[in-house]
Amino acid sequence: MAEVPNSQEFIRADLVLLAMGFLGPEADLLKQAGVDTTRTSAIQTSNSSYTTSVPGVFAAGDCRRGQSLVVWGINEGRQAAREIDQYLMGGTYLPMSGGILETQAALSASLASALSTNSQSNSSVTAQS
Ligand SMILES: Cc1cc2nc3c(=O)[nH]c(=O)nc-3n(C[C@H](O)[C@H](O)[C@H](O)COP(=O)(O)OP(=O)(O)OC[C@H]3O[C@@H](n4cnc5c(N)ncnc54)[C@H](O)[C@@H]3O)c2cc1C
Repeated sequence: MAEVPNSQEFIRADLVLLAMGFLGPEADLLKQAGVDTTRTSAIQTSNSSYTTSVPGVFAAGDCRRGQSLVVWGINEGRQAAREIDQYLMGGTYLPMSGGILETQAALSASLASALSTNSQSNSSVTAQS
């Protein structure tokens, strides 16, 4: 790409919003906050985690993994929410990736336990009568 001489144009404006994709997170902001970044200027987090170098500051999506896909943004947002919940509340009921299966397994186990208790109390009623 080469600059075309005398091709500049000046447009008067009250407010200019820069909407540019694939530029990465704002370096100055991260520097001020003391948040570590990677060699590719994405936000550095611990392995398999969304925690940054600053306790209580979390990162997910493009700012963490670099330019990517919407599905990753959604997935990381959900996983980061889980980690934030855990950080704030000391535990979480938010689902992890594939967590629906885990929830179903927990529900099945509690249902089986309730049925077993119920059938034991029924059999003791039968034995007494
Ligand atoms: C041109 C283009 C085309 C794309 N096409 C596709 C596609 O076809 N399919 C696909 O899967 N993905 C596509 N992507 C990628 C997809 O858009 C991103 O992966 C996804 O949006 C990342 O989501 P995110 O929530 O991590 O970040 P973002 O969607 O970028 O959200 C970050 C938000 O933070 C806000 N923000 C930034 N700085 C500050 C600040 N200092 N204070 C407050 N708010 C701030 C921004 O305004 C923005 O709303 C495309 C991206 C671009 C740029």
